[in-house]
Amino acid sequence: MGIPERARVVVIGGGVIGTSVAYHLAALGWTDVVLLERDRLTAGTTWHAAGLMVTFGSLSETSTEMRKYTRDLYGRLEAETGQATGLKQVGFIEVAADADRLEEYRRVAAFNRYCGVDVHEIGPGEIKELFPFARTDDLLAGFYVPQDGRVNPVDVTMALAKGARLRGATVVEGVPVTDVLVRGGAVAGVRTPVGDIEAEYVVNCAGMWARQLGERSGVSIPLQAAEHYYLITEPIPGVDGSLPVLEDPASYGYYREEGAGLMVGLFEAECAPWHVDRVPESFAFGTIPPDWDRMAPYLEKAMARVPVTGEVGVKTFFCGPESFTPDLSPVVGEAPEVRNYFVAAGLNSIGILTGGGIGRAVAQWIVDGRPDIDVTGIHVDRLERYQSTPEYRAARTVESLGKVYATHFPGLSMRTARGAKLSPLHARLVAQRAYFRDVSGWEGADWYAPEGVEPRVERLSWGRQNWFPYWEAEHRAAREGVVLMDMSFMSKFIVTGRDAGAALDRLSAGAVDGPAGVITYTQWLNEGGTIEADLTVTKLDDDRFWVVASDTARRHVLSMMERAFAGRHASVTDVTGGWAQINIQGPRSRELLSSVTSADLSDAAFPFRAAREIDLGYAGVLCVRITYVGELGYELYVPAEQAIGVYDRLTAAGAAFGLRHAGLKALSSLRMEKGYRDYGHDIDNTDSVLEAGLGFAVALDKPGGFVGRDAVLARKAAGPLHRRLTQVLLTDPDPLMFHGEVVRRDGVPVGYIRAASYGFTLGGAVGLAMLTRPDGATLDQSWLDNADWTVDVAGRLIPARCSLRPLYDPTNTRPRTEGRAPS
Ligand SMILES: Cc1cc2nc3c(=O)[nH]c(=O)nc-3n(C[C@H](O)[C@H](O)[C@H](O)COP(=O)(O)OP(=O)(O)OC[C@H]3O[C@@H](n4cnc5c(N)ncnc54)[C@H](O)[C@@H]3O)c2cc1C
Repeated sequence: MGIPERARVVVIGGGVIGTSVAYHLAALGWTDVVLLERDRLTAGTTWHAAGLMVTFGSLSETSTEMRKYTRDLYGRLEAETGQATGLKQVGFIEVAADADRLEEYRRVAAFNRYCGVDVHEIGPGEIKELFPFARTDDLLAGFYVPQDGRVNPVDVTMALAKGARLRGATVVEGVPVTDVLVRGGAVAGVRTPVGDIEAEYVVNCAGMWARQLGERSGVSIPLQAAEHYYLITEPIPGVDGSLPVLEDPASYGYYREEGAGLMVGLFEAECAPWHVDRVPESFAFGTIPPDWDRMAPYLEKAMARVPVTGEVGVKTFFCGPESFTPDLSPVVGEAPEVRNYFVAAGLNSIGILTGGGIGRAVAQWIVDGRPDIDVTGIHVDRLERYQSTPEYRAARTVESLGKVYATHFPGLSMRTARGAKLSPLHARLVAQRAYFRDVSGWEGADWYAPEGVEPRVERLSWGRQNWFPYWEAEHRAAREGVVLMDMSFMSKFIVTGRDAGAALDRLSAGAVDGPAGVITYTQWLNEGGTIEADLTVTKLDDDRFWVVASDTARRHVLSMMERAFAGRHASVTDVTGGWAQINIQGPRSRELLSSVTSADLSDAAFPFRAAREIDLGYAGVLCVRITYVGELGYELYVPAEQAIGVYDRLTAAGAAFGLRHAGLKALSSLRMEKGYRDYGHDIDNTDSVLEAGLGFAVALDKPGGFVGRDAVLARKAAGPLHRRLTQVLLTDPDPLMFHGEVVRRDGVPVGYIRAASYGFTLGGAVGLAMLTRPDGATLDQSWLDNADWTVDVAGRLIPARCSLRPLYDPTNTRPRTEGRAPS
């Protein structure tokens, strides 16, 4: 078949993802779409997938909605296209074999139920009835979704391709894309051996080849193929197609019927990356010779759960490659490097069961210019370019596949590929017994062990771990004394130029181009008035600005600026690694800082939000009076080469003021008591700035307006809000919250905890939840006050209090007035 010379969108790759993207583009009315598949449809990974169709299991709303949508789609495609998908809703059971998993699945079940998944907790007896071949005497419970089950991945792909064609898209097999053509920083088309296609958009859905193809256009897609296994037994009497799917992560296995025998799928704890150098271009409908020796212990354990699988013969022991990403989330969205270059790849073994949702999201993102789901956790720009290096991929992938079946303890950090980025203070923090976790590749100090104690986690759990008291001490020190926090991982940018102020002001919902020497907390919105970034902008002088965002937002914020500054006299430089950030926070912070600088830090000379260069030892540092913990405090930006000197000066002087090091755990509990937002955790790209409770930071009347202003005005005009981000405090000091706990008003679920911590000052677990008033009326404090609130913590309903204003220091006096005046 020939190819057209021009198309609005070229989709590269004919697996489940590419066909789903093409289908959904056509369904949205964009029919000028060409899908190019190098070989035949499904030739990559899709043809050999096990086809589990599971909606249970994720604490992410985005993933759960995608799963639900996908299952519904696969259920209706046959009627639409005449091509069956093989969907068999035989049921799915996840079993819990130990107390930690039971806790996890109960938490997940409550959240999934809130999202509309029909999940039931069942006992070992019921598991046995549903899946008689399983050993159940050592199981604690099962989590059963009757509507889940399995599909045939090849049939799904064919149905999507047929649906795309029926709606007007073109699907071409046997034509590889050899290059994506880029002109002026934007997609111009694709090159193939049979000619070029001019195009406005491409979507790279090339599966495990996506990284290699991206590299050719300078687009980083850090995914890596890995070996992925299942075994199929000879027929087993009594096994038929009505058997539900069973999954026992503790035994590394899942089980379903196949050819009247059983398929035993495996997720081994440590896996093997495949072809770290380059995935062979010619690999199609290929398999990998299985490594029996490496897999034997896992296989043994998996077979022990369903003993009959070890008693009958093995028909096939299959190994095929699948793509894994550094954080086990897919790589989706517009690449920051090239405009209109979209990616949808890196599906981490759930490409079939999320494929419909991924395709819908990408198509909608392209057609409307922005996604309508929270993409902060899946956006290609959350990942860093260094994560594409062979050494990083080789190291991290060993761990990622196994993490699928690990117990997902809160705050669990990957342990491979660590030490990729070190703060200039790293060695000093090691000496202070910091316990580190991975913070976008940086080693971030999470908490500090006291003198004489080794910084290690004794046992991961959902309860109070050994470091709980150390964390509490850090938290209290920030509230009562003074702490030092190394925040060097924060993303920092210098923006310069005649138009810098005007350009930043146009991006910012707040007024950031006022007097020099002032920091402004602001959001950057899209045209829909929802939040793209949450950051601070400090005006240093008329044509120099200092922009600081969180670690995960680095590439998003950078590309937003690069795009907004095009054609203007404004340029941005990423100086993240060149500057350390040391926060000195707490009521005694002014005393401490005054003892090491000649600068006048009095309220009159250095008010809240002031930003000045001050001397500190031999260094000149940018000192900003601002806080993310709710106390009097300062952020110090120090040239990397002077960071040690400044740190040594601060810690030496700090002894007299009881200075304590504080880590990210304390940062999180302190900010949560104060209700300070954290983008990507409790606010995201789907939240209007008003619903997020950030209207105070929006300057609706500033001259020139800002991106998203019309949408904010329209939202305001539409009347009072019925959906608002609300602080939730458990009144029982014992239970802990992390994320996903469902919040109920008079027993009715009205939202869930997006992020949580422990409020040592407030005396209980505290979080932020986006609550929705079911009757659509105004969600105000009286609606919060006049009801009984509970939070579902792993199946237990815990009483709670809800507040729109922060429960800690609601009048916001401490950052502005507290603290002792310098002597
Ligand atoms: C053993 C195993 C079991 C699995 N079980 C399940 C399961 O039960 N449930 C589930 O949800 N997922 C499962 N998966 C994962 C699932 O198979 C994948 O996530 C999914 O198939 C990925 O789809 P894709 O479209 O991204 O990639 P692919 O299917 O690999 O499609 C990419 C396509 O791009 C083509 N291509 C590459 N480069 C080019 C180019 N330059 N030009 C044109 N075409 C190109 C390739 O030929 C290929 O057809 C399993 C995976 C494995 C290996």
